[in-house]
Amino acid sequence: MERTERRAGWRLEHTYARLPELFWHRQDPAPAAKPELVILNDRLAVELGLDPGALRAPAGVEALAGSRLPEGAEPIAQAYAGHQFGWFTMLGDGRALLLGEQRTPSGALVDIQLKGSGRTPFSRGGDGRAALGPMLREYIISEAMHALGVPTTRSLAVVKTGLPVIRETVLPGAVLTRTAASHLRVGTFEFAAWRGGREALRALADYAIRRHMPEVSGDERPYLAFLREVIDRQAALIARWMLIGFVHGVMNTDNMTISGETIDYGPCAFLDEYDPDTVFSSIDTHGRYAYGRQPAIGAWNLARLAEALLPLIHEDEEKAAGLAEEALAEYPGRYERYWLKGMRAKLGLFGEEAEDGELARDLLELMRRHRADYTRTFFDLTRGRPEETAMHGTREFGEWLERWRNRLGRQPQTEAEARRLMESANPAVIPRNARVEEALEAAARGDLSVMERLLAALAKPYDPEAADPLYAAVPPKPDRPYRTFCGT
Ligand code: AMP
Ligand code: MG
Repeated sequence: MERTERRAGWRLEHTYARLPELFWHRQDPAPAAKPELVILNDRLAVELGLDPGALRAPAGVEALAGSRLPEGAEPIAQAYAGHQFGWFTMLGDGRALLLGEQRTPSGALVDIQLKGSGRTPFSRGGDGRAALGPMLREYIISEAMHALGVPTTRSLAVVKTGLPVIRETVLPGAVLTRTAASHLRVGTFEFAAWRGGREALRALADYAIRRHMPEVSGDERPYLAFLREVIDRQAALIARWMLIGFVHGVMNTDNMTISGETIDYGPCAFLDEYDPDTVFSSIDTHGRYAYGRQPAIGAWNLARLAEALLPLIHEDEEKAAGLAEEALAEYPGRYERYWLKGMRAKLGLFGEEAEDGELARDLLELMRRHRADYTRTFFDLTRGRPEETAMHGTREFGEWLERWRNRLGRQPQTEAEARRLMESANPAVIPRNARVEEALEAAARGDLSVMERLLAALAKPYDPEAADPLYAAVPPKPDRPYRTFCGT
């Protein structure tokens, strides 16, 4: 395979590939027929130490399409397993390849992954490819999440391959270049525990610790400290999702990272009306991954990580189980603290009062009963316009407002300070389902202007002055419930 001649600034390392061979498989991408750049994330490129101009040049686009390897790339498919909807299976990168880890100008190590770059030994029945629409959707939503301040994998580029992808209809093929703190998953540890034996498991855990939390290596029980740190990061992450109304949609253990970043933007979507039972994914027929179940599913997945780590936690099986259980028992409290901290900000509350949690939960219950729009309600409260919420005029909401105002009145901070706190926690703009679909439909016709306008609005979600009214507005309720799809 040819190598790029123009200097894009690639500084790829291969630390993951130093793990035992069972964790990866060397695999070149399938060349594209006619690589065509659809979108490049210039700002992210610069953060990575890459030259956007060189990436836009033909050789750069070919590299992003999988048709030639960037300098220093040694593509591999990563092995992992996972519990999908509760069932354990062997998975692995079936349509993705890790080109290497980019050493950024600030010294960070960032995974560079092509998604949709062809078959691998882990493809099973799949074609290894991706369609343009879903890759653009991942680009839009992951970049929106980043701007919302939620840890997430990011999107560097989407390139059309010129190859057809056969789904229900024939669709244009595309490759997404995804970046991540790493692609280590709970499922990577499940794979190691299942296939690798103790030494492979230890090698993986040591690698994860070095890469993501070197501080725990000095701990008396480093693997237990590692587990506790992952538990903490996931509690924090899932609290962030809940606070912004994000429904991940496919919280299988292979889609839960060790780093604490959000990964896998298949069937995800944002709430409109507040309802904990909201499910968007067409295959989640039992609502396992409903909005309101996400914190509990987080605990379930972390229990799978704990099980995988047992042989490293203590030589004595019973002691290992006891220690792991203690660590898992901390999750609900940690989650609640992160969530409540976020809710206090959403309500403009400084300091802590014992009834703050109840105040927040009572508002959510009113929102549920009155089918209030989640994002808009908090935005209206932020702007001092409670009369614009769906609950306005009811006695119960009047009472709630009085409690809230009394609570605000008891704190020394000014109204302006409370409002600034609320603005920092209540986005004016989120990627609304209808708006994302409309951008994707235009892109499919070759018109990228709609997506660009949407991306510009999503880049500054917490700036009510800058908010594009089109994207701050609540779109009319669709005739049919919004449905999303996995693995498309
Ligand atoms: P996901 O639903 O994205 O978490 O993917 C679950 C598993 O299916 C992973 O092992 C993917 O690599 C694999 N997969 C998804 N789509 C494809 C495809 N088109 N071809 C091959 N493997 C795929
Ligand atoms: Mg996945």
